[in-house]
Amino acid sequence: MEKYKNLIGGKLVPPISGEYFENLNPADNTDIVGLFPKSDERDIETAVQAAKDASPTWGETPPPKRGEFIYKVGELLLRNQEELAQVIVREMGKTMPESMGDIKSSADVAYFMAGEGRRMYGQTTFSSLEKRWALTKRFPVGVCGLITAWNAPMAIITWKLFPAVICGNAVVLKPSEDTPLSAHFLGEILREAGFPDGVVNIVYGIGPETGKALVKNRDIDLISFTGSTAIGRSIAEECGRRLKKCSLELGGKNGLIVMSDADLDAAAKAAASGAFSTAGQRCASTSRVFVHAAVYETFLKKLLEETKKMKVGPGTDPSTRVCPIINKRQFESILSYIEAAKKDGARLLVGGQALRGGKYAKGHFIEPTIFANVDIRSKLAQEEIFGPVLAVFRISSLEEGIELINAVDYGLTGSIFTSSIELAMHALEKIQVGCCYVNAPTFGSEPHLPFGGLKNSGNGAREPGTQALDVFSNWKTIYMDYSGLAQNSQFKTT
Ligand code: NDP
Repeated sequence: MEKYKNLIGGKLVPPISGEYFENLNPADNTDIVGLFPKSDERDIETAVQAAKDASPTWGETPPPKRGEFIYKVGELLLRNQEELAQVIVREMGKTMPESMGDIKSSADVAYFMAGEGRRMYGQTTFSSLEKRWALTKRFPVGVCGLITAWNAPMAIITWKLFPAVICGNAVVLKPSEDTPLSAHFLGEILREAGFPDGVVNIVYGIGPETGKALVKNRDIDLISFTGSTAIGRSIAEECGRRLKKCSLELGGKNGLIVMSDADLDAAAKAAASGAFSTAGQRCASTSRVFVHAAVYETFLKKLLEETKKMKVGPGTDPSTRVCPIINKRQFESILSYIEAAKKDGARLLVGGQALRGGKYAKGHFIEPTIFANVDIRSKLAQEEIFGPVLAVFRISSLEEGIELINAVDYGLTGSIFTSSIELAMHALEKIQVGCCYVNAPTFGSEPHLPFGGLKNSGNGAREPGTQALDVFSNWKTIYMDYSGLAQNSQFKTT
C-alpha cells in the first residue's frame, strides 16, 4: 500500500509522528486508495517555516512571471485531465463528467489568474494637493493557510491557490482527509511546472488536529477555508482573536422558485440535477423547490419523471448520475435527516432508502429522495443535509416564494424559473443570496466571476473572480510628493 508524503519546501517528507490514515474509495470501502500522513503541529510548523523562507523571493517575483508558472500548471492540468478525473472518481466518488469538470474548472482559473499577473490593477488618481501623486498598489499578505472540503477536490483547492500565489503569497494547504490524492497530484504538477520550493506546501491530516494547528500557527497571516458553517465559525473566532485575515466559503440551503409561466420541462430538469447530481453533496445543491400552485401537480409529475432518470451507482459506471456518499458519517447523517422528516410529518414522494447489496454492497448509496408537505420550520427545510434530499413546497405568489426562500440562515445560491422579465428582475432583487440564477439550476459557477454567500454561507469574502485578489492581497495607498513643503491634506503647515 503506497504511503504518500507531505510536500514541504519542495521535498516529499514523511509525517514526524510516523502515523498515517487510510483514504477509502466511497463506492467500494475495501479499496484503500492510499495511506496519507497524519500530520501534527510539528509538520505544520515545518511547512509554515518553508513557506516563510520562500515568501520574500516569491513576493518580489514580478506577477507576470508568477503567472507563467500558473499558466504552465493550467496546461498540465488539461494535459492530464482524464487521469486526474479518474483519481477524483476513485477517491471522491463522483461521475467522470463531473470529475472532468472539476479539472477543467481548475485549468480555467489557472488561465484567468495567470492573466491577472499582467493586470492586478490599482488606482492612480489626483491628489487634492499640488505637486503630489496618489495611487494604490496590491502587496502579498504573507503566508496563507488553505483548508478545503472534499466535494470538488481539485477545484476548491485551485480556486484558492492560484489567486493566493499570483498575489505573491506562499501557501500551506491542508486538503480534506477524504480526498488527499487529488492534492498529491496537484503537488506533482506544481513541481513539474517549476514552482520554486516552499511556495506551495501540502500537509495532510485530520481537521481537528492538522487543520486546527494551521489556523493557530502564529506565522500564518491568512486562512482561506471552504467547509461547513460550524467549523468555519470556529476558525473565524480563532482568526478574530489573532486578527488574521479570514475568508470563509460555507454551507448552503439553496432554493429554486418555479412560477406558473415557467418552462416546466427545463425547471424539472434543473431541480432534479440540482438536487441529486453529486448525490446532493455540493454547497450549491438545490434542497428546496417552491412551486406555484397553478402548476404544482404538473411540475411534480415532471420532477418525478426526471428523478427516475437519476440512476444511482459508482462513478465508474457511465450510466450513473447519482454517486455514492463520501463516508459512513455523512451517510448516517443523511439517513437521520430522512427519518426526522418522516417523523415531522413530511410526505415522502420518492426514495428515502439506503441502497444495499449488489453493486451497492461495498459503499454508501442513498436513493434520490423527495418530500412534500414540509413544515418550513423543520430540520428538513432549515438545515444543510448535503445529500440527495429535496423538499417541495406549494406557493401562491412570487412574494410567498421569496419569503420562504429567504426563511433560512443560509444565503448561498437561489434560482427562479419564469418567462416574465418582471418576475425575474423582482426575484433577482429580493432573493438573499450571493449567487442568483434565472432559468438555470442553483449550481454551475464560472471562475472569472465571484462565488460566495450571505448570512451563514460565508463572511462576505469572494473567491475566485478578481474579487479573490482582495482576499489574497493587501492594498497599500501611496502618496508621492515633490512640492518640498512637507504638506499634508488635513491642515496647512507653516
Ligand atoms: P468540514 O467543515 O467538515 O471540513 C472542511 C475542512 O476543514 C476539511 O479539510 C477538514 O478536515 C477541516 N477541518 C475540520 N475540522 C477542523 C478544525 N477544527 N480546524 C481546522 N480545520 C478543520 O466540511 P466538509 O469537508 O465535510 O465539506 C462539506 C461542507 O463544505 C458543506 O457544508 C458544504 O456546504 C461546504 N462547502 C462550501 C462551498 C462553498 O464554496 N461555499 C463549496 C464546497 C463545500 P477533515 O477533512 O480532516 O475533516
